[in-house]
Amino acid sequence: MNEIRDNIDAPSAADAQAEGKTRIDAERVDAAADAVAAVPATAAAKPVAAVPDNGKTNLFDLDRTQLEDFFEHSLGEKRYRAHQVMKWIHHRYVTDFDGMTDLGKALRAKLEAHAQVRAPMVVFDKPSTDGTHKWLLGMDPKNAIETVYIPDKGRGTLCVSSQVGCALNCQFCSTATQGFNRNLSTAEIIGQVWVAARHLGNVPHQQRRLTNVVMMGMGEPLANFDNVVRAMSIMRDDLGYGLANKRVTLSTAGMVPMIDKLGEVSDVSLAVSLHAPNDELRSELVPLNKKYPIAELMESCVRYALRKRGTSVTFEYTLMKGVNDQPTHARQLVRLLRQFDNAVQMKDAAKVNLIPFNPFPGTRFERPDDAAIRAFQKLLNEAGMIAPVRRTRGDDIDAACGQLKGQVMDRTRRQAEFRKRLQAQGLDQGPGRGGEIGDAA
Ligand code: SF4
Repeated sequence: MNEIRDNIDAPSAADAQAEGKTRIDAERVDAAADAVAAVPATAAAKPVAAVPDNGKTNLFDLDRTQLEDFFEHSLGEKRYRAHQVMKWIHHRYVTDFDGMTDLGKALRAKLEAHAQVRAPMVVFDKPSTDGTHKWLLGMDPKNAIETVYIPDKGRGTLCVSSQVGCALNCQFCSTATQGFNRNLSTAEIIGQVWVAARHLGNVPHQQRRLTNVVMMGMGEPLANFDNVVRAMSIMRDDLGYGLANKRVTLSTAGMVPMIDKLGEVSDVSLAVSLHAPNDELRSELVPLNKKYPIAELMESCVRYALRKRGTSVTFEYTLMKGVNDQPTHARQLVRLLRQFDNAVQMKDAAKVNLIPFNPFPGTRFERPDDAAIRAFQKLLNEAGMIAPVRRTRGDDIDAACGQLKGQVMDRTRRQAEFRKRLQAQGLDQGPGRGGEIGDAA
């Protein structure tokens, strides 16, 4: 992992932008893509905090099978005891073993000695006027991530983070400006669901406030494969949050080998951050495209969809004024997604989500005006494509798509470069980002 961090310590494209250059330095973009692609699956998947400092196992880190094993092999207890404890944790939000009243006193004492149930610390939470709710969750003394709940007609979606910051450096993404620190553990990922579900009074199978989870917060989930897959298994477990497979969505910038690996072990919904219909433009916006160009990415999406009849893939397309919102881009997008439908042999196998860009301080991109957004959508609809425009939610609390920042002790120096750029533009917001978590409150 350190080797990876060293690689991405190379100067980023931010300097070029600061100098007013519109073209991104290809070598630097290559370095970022290579650094990410160089993450070996096993290194990326290494749990970060499975055993907390006090030597006790954090039960949030364990899925059902692992918890059963823990009871049998570490505690010498019956496996079914794990089921009782899962219900206490994920259905009733009890983290104190003394409160788990259907466990005998001796077992509770044993748990107290060997285990703990440690959720992320809520640094603050903010409701939006539109019902959206954002949490800043402290993961360690220096780093915090953001989690957002978005209620809508008949559904409640939680947007969950998978890493502290992100190494992929997509040019239009606020998280990318924070740099990258580390992967989140399973406990830190499922802990986000637990904090939100407890706040909402969610009762799986009875009083569902949380109906969907999207792995679309900070970070690239497939770069933290094992921890994300394990957390998604708890989300879908009846003893966890009981969500149907299709109600858990993993969104990736396009880590092709890991999409294939995901298809082998999981059956969640797949979303791909496409954002451009050709390689030249996509490589500029999403540096990872240099490593895995569109053709390879689409082939892996076809393989994912073909595993199970009726599977669709959602392609996220952030519309940026004058960058990727022209009629020619819409036509190229239609061609690309028609090829996908044909390969999967299913009409509407490809779904498109159009996301008007949500600006943040220091970005060079702009949101297109409403007429341009409608014109782009119309071209897609006329070609028979389903392409809803995602409504901006929670923008009064900086919780809209692409705006999540958290608080990252950056190990890539990207944050400092971004601050320099803001200063050059007279937009620096002063200290507070990247310091101790307490600064943010
Ligand atoms: S868009 Fe996603 S993958 Fe790209 S930098 Fe932002 S968080 Fe990372």
